[in-house]
Amino acid sequence: MSNLPLAAPDITDRERELVMQVLSTPILSGGPMVQRFEQMAAAVARRKHAIAVSSGTAGLHVIVRALGLGPGDAVITTPYSFIASSNCLLYESVQPIFVDIEADTFNIDPDRITDALRSDGSRRNRIKGILAVDIFGHPARWEHLEAIAQEHGLKLIEDSAESLGSSLSGRPCGSFGDAAIFAFYPNKQITTGEGGVVLTDSEDLAEMARSLRNQGRGPASDWLEHVRLGYNYRLSELHAALGVAQLERLQELLAKRAQVAAWYDEGLRDISYLTPPAKQDGAEVSWFVYVIRLKNAGHRQQVMQWLKERGVPTRPYFPAIHLMSFYREQFGFKEGDFPITEAVAASTLALPFHNNMTEAEVNYVCDQLQALTESLS
Ligand SMILES: *Cc1c(COP(=O)(O)O)cnc(C)c1O
Repeated sequence: MSNLPLAAPDITDRERELVMQVLSTPILSGGPMVQRFEQMAAAVARRKHAIAVSSGTAGLHVIVRALGLGPGDAVITTPYSFIASSNCLLYESVQPIFVDIEADTFNIDPDRITDALRSDGSRRNRIKGILAVDIFGHPARWEHLEAIAQEHGLKLIEDSAESLGSSLSGRPCGSFGDAAIFAFYPNKQITTGEGGVVLTDSEDLAEMARSLRNQGRGPASDWLEHVRLGYNYRLSELHAALGVAQLERLQELLAKRAQVAAWYDEGLRDISYLTPPAKQDGAEVSWFVYVIRLKNAGHRQQVMQWLKERGVPTRPYFPAIHLMSFYREQFGFKEGDFPITEAVAASTLALPFHNNMTEAEVNYVCDQLQALTESLS
């Protein structure tokens, strides 16, 4: 067994059928497929409004702008994430204020947010919001975050790019905060090739998001009348068709992911040098990736090399955002600033994970990890 993919989309005849259906019409943008996709996405997150956009990153940018955040403002967020959750603030010259994460869930730590808000002075006054990420599909502590945002009058943004189908205490990810996004790059729970969606219950935010994605047109504008600075962040009918077919199959897709994760949980249970993903009480996880943590970060290179030689690709997930060169340069971040994030980032590893992975493939990966135990100790 060799050359397992790290991730893979799950595309069937239904996806091909709906994309072909669009191609048999003259409407390739701004048509019924996008509307259908938006209705389905809104239903998954139990939101009033869904606005399809060209990527998850575009969706985050739209939210930051639609909330009126800009130069001089600061937003509290996590340094342990895919870079887009922080870059979306930089696009609008909003300062990211990182706080460290929880060592078990890898999500932003609400207690540290409270600490950051307790400090006085000009920085405190500039903090206007919290942007939290459901990392690897694991819901952040939304009940806490909502209470903090409420108490301090802060905007709350959910980056649920990795958590479509997850829930916390029965509430779906994508339903928390003023607005949220899903993202549909091919390694996410569902894909449109490229794509994203903005989710909100606010009529005003929804209208602003629709305008921003569509070159700043107003709801009743002529095609060449623009009422504000906007972008072309539209999703095409072709992409939306792919998304409709994927959302029709959502329960099937999520069940397959849960099965693969369960095989991993079982197969890795007795391997002493690593920790499988933690489960949070009350959380249902839809599995974006399967990320293990090595108890000794010094082992990671050896583990990666060993697996690579046996046809198993892995990837360190995620490097700390504050240590990226342009963040260091712009904000003066350095090693030691967020020790939990740095320790986690140095010791985590994403294993091959996709819907159609077989039990034999998962067992193969687990066996290779098991076989390495002796030589690591
Ligand atoms: C994938 C991802 C995004 C961005 O989505 P794109 O569609 O790739 O732009 C944002 N945030 C997180 C946490 C992600 O994993």
